[in-house]
Amino acid sequence: MAGTPAQDDLTCAVCGEVAEASLWLSECFSCGRYFHLSPYNADSGMAGKDCGDAVLGESLGVETHCGDCIEAERRTAEAAVGPGRARAESMVRTLFGDELPLPPPSPPAPSERRPFRRVEDD
Ligand SMILES: [Zn+2]
Ligand SMILES: [Zn+2]
Repeated sequence: MAGTPAQDDLTCAVCGEVAEASLWLSECFSCGRYFHLSPYNADSGMAGKDCGDAVLGESLGVETHCGDCIEAERRTAEAAVGPGRARAESMVRTLFGDELPLPPPSPPAPSERRPFRRVEDD
């Protein structure tokens, strides 16, 4: 049999379950532990477990991060700016990357709206 796993401990660092094969595990880019990540489940039709996420890094290709590191990063962000703001920022980052700045947390009161008059056929 080919494909002997490099690591013989197939325990997921996030949920503590032992994976059936090293195929289901990825190494965390941040902490170096192995966790469930199954990028192949869509093709194989097998239900894979995800205890982390894979994101596109700036220079090193795909970076994988375990759920613990993602959670820790999220908590840090929340502590810094507040939960709502952190969620909004991460959403914007997911959609647009780091290039699109958000408006300030407390937007100024909306100025008087000028109603548009629609042209209707009477
Ligand atoms: Zn897991
Ligand atoms: Zn990690």
